[in-house]
Amino acid sequence: MKKLHPPFAMFLLNLLLSGAVLAQSDKPAKTDNAPAVIAAEPAIDAPVLSAAAKAALSKVNKRITPINTDELKALLKAKPETVVIDVRNPEELTLQGGYISATTFFNITRGLLEFQIDTFAPNKKTPIVVYSSFNRRSPLAADTLMQLGYTNVKNYADGFFKWKRAGLPVKYSDKALDSFLYSKPQEVIPGVWSAIGATAPQTYENSGHNNNLSFVITEEGVLVMNAGANYLLAQSLHEEIKKLTKLPVKYVVLENAQSHAMLGASYWKAQGATIIAHKDAAHEIQQDGHNILASTRSRLRDKAFKTELATPDKIFEDKLELKMGSWKIEVLYLGPAHSPGDIMVWIPEKKLVISGDTAFHERLLPLFDNTNTAAWIKTWDKFEALGAQTIIPGHGRPTHIAEVTKYTKDYLVYLRAKIAEVIKKGGSLQDAYKVDQSPYAHLDTYDELARVNAGMVFRAMEFE
Ligand SMILES: [Zn+2]
Repeated sequence: MKKLHPPFAMFLLNLLLSGAVLAQSDKPAKTDNAPAVIAAEPAIDAPVLSAAAKAALSKVNKRITPINTDELKALLKAKPETVVIDVRNPEELTLQGGYISATTFFNITRGLLEFQIDTFAPNKKTPIVVYSSFNRRSPLAADTLMQLGYTNVKNYADGFFKWKRAGLPVKYSDKALDSFLYSKPQEVIPGVWSAIGATAPQTYENSGHNNNLSFVITEEGVLVMNAGANYLLAQSLHEEIKKLTKLPVKYVVLENAQSHAMLGASYWKAQGATIIAHKDAAHEIQQDGHNILASTRSRLRDKAFKTELATPDKIFEDKLELKMGSWKIEVLYLGPAHSPGDIMVWIPEKKLVISGDTAFHERLLPLFDNTNTAAWIKTWDKFEALGAQTIIPGHGRPTHIAEVTKYTKDYLVYLRAKIAEVIKKGGSLQDAYKVDQSPYAHLDTYDELARVNAGMVFRAMEFE
């Protein structure tokens, strides 16, 4: 998911107050990432309009430019930079079964359009398409934008429901409405499961489930990779595990010290699990854990209920071998990757690796002040040498080595080469921000991260 705005304040309350009429749909939209759990879809018919409202709308409709589904499809293909604005309220994106998948997408509630559009489209010539559920709010939104001086505004007059019913690409802000989880666990190979998180920033709406929470069910208990971003999310994952086995969760491995890897640890400790982390991640938790906890609390508010810091119980440096029933499981540190203490779970006999944040594909990888991209590329060789056939990355669906190589190692090599050119020419940080990263523009979180990544590599390579 691209940027969603405004923040999802009061989401739960809105959910309760929205009074949305939900009805069973006989024809769910065809998408490759359709939620397993959303069974209900809103009633098809738009509410009846009063004569006065109809008259007001028809006046506005004469001033604006409508486009239909085929035209929007063609436009997004020809000009992916078109800014698509969904003017529904954030909770409608969840309750009405998602939003249009577009490269540059924003959710700006119609009532906030005047006040927030500058941030997302500072240039008045920006190509913009607005839409709503039924072409009621979107003509008004298009009209407003034109009054604000925007010169290239179109109204997608078919509206979201027609797009969705046509089976066109839709994304979801939550795939499991009855759970804190963004999506429920899926079995990747027999005994190994993963609840795939949103490939998006953490939001109130996705309850912080924006990374993969995976687990291995052995004859002697369960091993979980990642504690989850908060106590209640960890508990929700445990609820799902309990549906599959009565055995206890014995180990919880933290892929690193990021909030979504470790903040649920206090829940798991209370269940008697042993928390495993690399020594560098443990150090990070000690140094920075309180800041990470504070920012999670401000982001997730009531959803951070009971979330506290917990220190890892078992700390290692290179390798930890665990024998759980018939399963031989290795927890490995192969070298520096995206953040301190990035580790992975390797099951040699199944040729499956739960790679954590060493490997990315669906979303653009993030670089931090302490990321060493040259070292990450070296670590990659060791990672590739494992010979994994199935990779459950830190984010996004399970995949294979070719795909993660393309979007991790190859991206790092590409970006470093581009920045090296800038440095060679005596360019500045501003020039670095402008390097062409368009081959990766289709990835999730590209808008949030591409420029930041270029800046990080520039500052690091200046000193290499
Ligand atoms: Zn991550």
